[in-house]
Formats: sequence, structure tokens, C-alpha cells
Amino acid sequence: MTPDERRHAEAARGFMPTDEGAALAAAAASIDASLGPVLEVGSYCGKSACWMGPSVRAAGTVLYCLDHHRGSEENQAGWEHHEPDLIDPAVGKMDTLPFFRRTIHDAGLEDVVVALVGDGPTVARNWATPLSMLFIDGGHGVEPARLDRELWVPHVALGGLLAIHDVFPDPADGGRPPYEEIYLPVMASGAFEELSATGSLRLLRRTG
Ligand code: MG
Repeated sequence: MTPDERRHAEAARGFMPTDEGAALAAAAASIDASLGPVLEVGSYCGKSACWMGPSVRAAGTVLYCLDHHRGSEENQAGWEHHEPDLIDPAVGKMDTLPFFRRTIHDAGLEDVVVALVGDGPTVARNWATPLSMLFIDGGHGVEPARLDRELWVPHVALGGLLAIHDVFPDPADGGRPPYEEIYLPVMASGAFEELSATGSLRLLRRTG
């Protein structure tokens, strides 16, 4: 497997390559915590929270990790990237929350990471706290990606950061919605400047 093939395989399974995780940690270390807390949409088993958590703690704020923990649409029983270990046999559905909690416990991050368990749009419509950083790594379908942009991006404070995962300008590299439904409209809005690109991770800052 070539490095690129490994990157694509890991990205498809929801993992974050080391260079992208390090870029995410560096971004979280650069926030202005006076603007508000950090929020991640799509925390899955907690790997990216482990990258960001120590930086967020050092910055003096907390990291909210939002996920319904029932798996994304590309991650269900019978699908290519499905992992049977993640099924709760009592209800016959995915449940990644126990894995997320164990990851955060084992990483010693329970003081800084706050799990939000629920439907993303429902939480977003009732959210009122400006964010110093928003990391979107949620569902990869058109509708989930569009809703993540419409409902969460307005919560990024002026001067705050917006990180987007799985941005693939070349269709050969991966799915389109994070690029077409989040990255492109956000850039076209004129309210964000791009700070960096690391693999499929884009880091932007709100300027207006
Ligand atoms: Mg991702």
C-alpha cells in the first residue's frame, strides 16, 4: 500500500493521518480562548479530540465533542467501512460512545473534553455560545455537510478558526460534499481567509 493509498483508506474509515492531527493540534494551540470554547462536529471514537485536547486545555478553554454516536451514513452495518465491534447488540445499532469515552479516559482528557451526544442540527439550533474554533468532521453526505455549514459556521467568532476535514478538490481523492457544500461556499462568502492546507484538512480564519 502506498502512503497515499494508506491515507485514503484511513480517511475512509474515519481515522486522521498523523500530519493532519498535528496540524489540528497546532491550530487548537493558536486559538484566542477569550473568544469562546472549541467545538468538534463528528467526534466518532475520539481520535481527533486526543489531538486537540491538550492544546485546548493549555489555551484555557474546553473542547465540546458532538456526535450522535450512531455512525455516519457511510459507516453502517453491511457497508464497506463498517466495523462490527461498534454495534450495540442490545439495540442492533452502532454505538461509538463507549469507545469515545474510553479513548478520552485513557488519554487523560476528561477534564477538558465534554461530550455532546445528539443530533447535530438539533444541538446547533439551540447553541448560543460563540466559538474560538470549530472543527467540522461530520457526515459526508450532501445534506449533513450542508447543514453543518449552515447551522455551525455562524457560531465561529470573528477572529475564530474553522477547520474542515476531508476536503478533496480532486474527485479521485474522496467524496465531494465537504469540499462542495462546506469549503467552497464558506470561501465564497468572503468572511474567511485560508491559513493552511494539510492533506484533506483546511484551516480558515473568520475575518468578517
Ligand atoms: Mg474525517
